[in-house]
Amino acid sequence: MQLQFGKHDSTLGNQLKCLTCGCDYLQHHATEIYDTNIRVSVEDSKASIDTDLANKPFQNLDGLKIRLICNVCLHETLFFLVQFNGRTYLNSRIGRNLMGAFYGQPEPEHDSIS
Ligand SMILES: [Zn+2]
Repeated sequence: MQLQFGKHDSTLGNQLKCLTCGCDYLQHHATEIYDTNIRVSVEDSKASIDTDLANKPFQNLDGLKIRLICNVCLHETLFFLVQFNGRTYLNSRIGRNLMGAFYGQPEPEHDSIS
């Protein structure tokens, strides 16, 4: 999925846009860091460390996953920073639509890249 940017601010950088609707009202939701067999998660002002690699975006590669929620369409925009053969890749993808979560039926997570 192609990254989309809005206005450039000389101090803050480029505004990120929602991959679903294109608006620029993305709010940080969670960050996960994968390092070998460890996952570090930060979500809802809490940090945790565990070995749950079920949602690791690249099974054999270390990296970083950032979840942003669009304040307009409630879709997640996911960003991945992945290390492979000494190089670093930036990737993005549309995540879950969180609208169902408000009605008790969240969509299953399907953001893994194989
Ligand atoms: Zn959106």
